[in-house]
Amino acid sequence: MKQITNEEINEQYEYMRRVRAIIGEGKKACVRTFGCQQNEADSERLGGMLREMGFETVCDVKQADLILVNTCAVREHAELKALSVTGQFKHLKEAKPSLLIGICGCMVTQEHRAGTIKHSYPYVDFLFGTAMLYRFPEILWDTLTEEKRQILWEDTGEGNIAEGLPVKREGGAKAWLSIMYGCNNFCTYCVVPYVRGRERSRRKSDVLAEARELIADGVQEITLLGQNVNSYGNDLGTEGDFADLLNDICKLDGDFRIRFMTSHPKDASHKLIDVMAANEKVERHFHLPLQSGDNRVLKAMNRRYTRESYLDLVGYMREKMPEIAITTDIIVGFPGETEDEFENTLDMLRRVRFDNIYSFIYSKRRGTPAEKMPDQISDAVKKERFARLLKVQDAISKEKNAELIGRRVPVLVEGRSKTDPTRLTGRTAGNRLVHFTGDDGLIGKRIELLVEDAEIHSLFGSYSPKE
Ligand code: SAH
Ligand code: SF4
Repeated sequence: MKQITNEEINEQYEYMRRVRAIIGEGKKACVRTFGCQQNEADSERLGGMLREMGFETVCDVKQADLILVNTCAVREHAELKALSVTGQFKHLKEAKPSLLIGICGCMVTQEHRAGTIKHSYPYVDFLFGTAMLYRFPEILWDTLTEEKRQILWEDTGEGNIAEGLPVKREGGAKAWLSIMYGCNNFCTYCVVPYVRGRERSRRKSDVLAEARELIADGVQEITLLGQNVNSYGNDLGTEGDFADLLNDICKLDGDFRIRFMTSHPKDASHKLIDVMAANEKVERHFHLPLQSGDNRVLKAMNRRYTRESYLDLVGYMREKMPEIAITTDIIVGFPGETEDEFENTLDMLRRVRFDNIYSFIYSKRRGTPAEKMPDQISDAVKKERFARLLKVQDAISKEKNAELIGRRVPVLVEGRSKTDPTRLTGRTAGNRLVHFTGDDGLIGKRIELLVEDAEIHSLFGSYSPKE
């Protein structure tokens, strides 16, 4: 792993000053982000660098002088969407030749996709992979001054850590805090280890300093991010593990809450659960991706746990924190998955009774071991299983939501409801949406709501301020 030096970061600040000096007043930039929270966190750094370079950020691409697409590679659908969006920018460029178009993130960190952009999207001015994010100012400077496209594909390899980049936070009362990058697990279906490089942890002092900054800025809820937060510190030697880090963050002064994601079940320890149970500041929510409920499939996925050990872990969590919300990720249609094996996944949903699941149809990823596995499942079977999976979970979610009617639940108020602006929405500890009537002064506050009604995906509540 390479820790980017202060000199290298200062060099990028110098490029930021230079770009600012030549772009002129009133330039606007739009960053489009696909994919996971890690990508959103990366886009906040890109936004910070853009602001430092004098760009105002806008949402509307038509107003933009620079468009940057931060892509995802985890499923084919995400890639096709990013390509289609990039395709739509062609006519914007034709109408405004000075428009700069850049593309970055996981999709173009794959050599074949970088090639696609290079050859089939000639109006894309610059491209860089995940390991080059901190060099964005330099890449933009070169694009502006060399009058040639900057297509900078390189292997992520070990990956790097860059501290001290500017950041433009978009989350209001909520903030992302990356504690580590990359992944070493090589689940056989997954492209992440190839596009994000090896697992590497930020120094504890850097994580704590950023957490202190967020708390001082009034952030109410910090989500610690990593592909597998439970391996935090494995590469640092003496600084302790994730449970120790979580405990140290909880000790910081201030009225804030902590979440974390994602936890790999093979590494989620009793120690971590004990730390959570002992600290009120950690939200009572555990996202624990199961992927499949069948032991043969789990082995073929290289997940390195069994349905039995998973159930033990869930049992321990519920023993220590009976109110905990547990959510998961499920993949349907992994190569070779039989009907009985799929039934085992449904059986796990019924046994665990997750508060929510994020379910995905298996998508073949180039260069992964599962790509070459025999017995790929047909689209029709995958879709049919997917629909059955949702049906089982919807019934469980509805029942679990209905159990909350008549109870008071704490929520963090996020803002106006997207579907009904006359209402506000908040999120419970388990990340469930609650709609209610109230005034804007409540946005960003943690309050209690009385749950009055429940649907599959959301709750309806009422707020009455305490006397
Ligand atoms: N590091 C996290 C997951 C990151 S990817 C973890 O291990 O839990 C987020 C989710 O996308 C995964 O949990 C998995 O359910 C899904 N996913 C990853 N690769 C996929 C693929 N090839 N096809 C379908 N879903 C996939
Ligand atoms: Fe992908 Fe597995 Fe790593 Fe998660 S743990 S990012 S699913 S390889």
